[in-house]
Amino acid sequence: MKKILILGGTAEAVSLAAQLKDYPGISVIYSLAGRTRSPNLPDCAVRQGGFGGTDGLTRYLMENDIAAVIDATHPYAGQMAENARRATSKLSLAHYKYLRTPWSEPCEAPWIWAASSNDAAEKIRGKFNRVFLSGGLNDVAAFTALNDVWFLIRSIEYPSTPIPIQNFSHIKARGPFDVVGERKLMQENKIDALVSKNSGGSATEAKLHAAQALSIPIIMIDRPPPLGGVVFDDQAMLIDRLRQDF
Ligand code: NAP
Repeated sequence: MKKILILGGTAEAVSLAAQLKDYPGISVIYSLAGRTRSPNLPDCAVRQGGFGGTDGLTRYLMENDIAAVIDATHPYAGQMAENARRATSKLSLAHYKYLRTPWSEPCEAPWIWAASSNDAAEKIRGKFNRVFLSGGLNDVAAFTALNDVWFLIRSIEYPSTPIPIQNFSHIKARGPFDVVGERKLMQENKIDALVSKNSGGSATEAKLHAAQALSIPIIMIDRPPPLGGVVFDDQAMLIDRLRQDF
């Protein structure tokens, strides 16, 4: 039996685990950071919580006799991706990276590109007054200094620590979202700019269509570059490749 560790926290990671769990000769362990109170889980072995950096992950892979790692974390989970690259390279293990296809920028409504959340804050400064931060709670600290701006902050969990922003309203909601609802939310809150990550996938794409329909500028935080592993944007192709390799 070859043990495969799936680094999860996305719908696609759950789906990959579900497809691989009964695969002959393979046993799957699904790993979560453990930040979400009621995460979607596949019906296979699950572990939760950080490994303790690259060294902790390397130790975990050795102690659990893992043969391969599928990094199916969110495209912006750069630290976990880097740790997976380093640990698998140290141990010469197979390393696959699943990455959703990014959304594409419409020619008729170009996005304002930002290299990071800090850069997105600079793009807001002096230009926008009521901004929708749609990318969760991880990076809200980047917007702390914008005291003249009011923010609508959406995340799938209530914040576990105070939100370090002066003027804001928080909503807890989990996708999928639809265009009608997103449009209503932005209109009701008089939003004049949307900050988004280029997450890809269908669950949270509606906000882009809603903003475009309302002529609300979209500040798009660019993706970090993929950090290693054999990269797939198609689950079936990744599974085919695993089938060949194991
Ligand atoms: P990150 O910055 O890359 O990771 C920070 C630390 O969290 C990692 O160093 C690791 O701790 C731990 N960690 C992250 N993913 C893990 C996993 N699947 N299993 C075990 N430990 C994990 O990640 P993040 O952006 O905070 O994302 C955390 C989780 O939320 C990920 O599972 C990701 O797929 C999911 N998520 C993220 C976003 C986003 O916008 N970033 C959106 C949706 C879902 P140690 O160093 O101690 O091992």
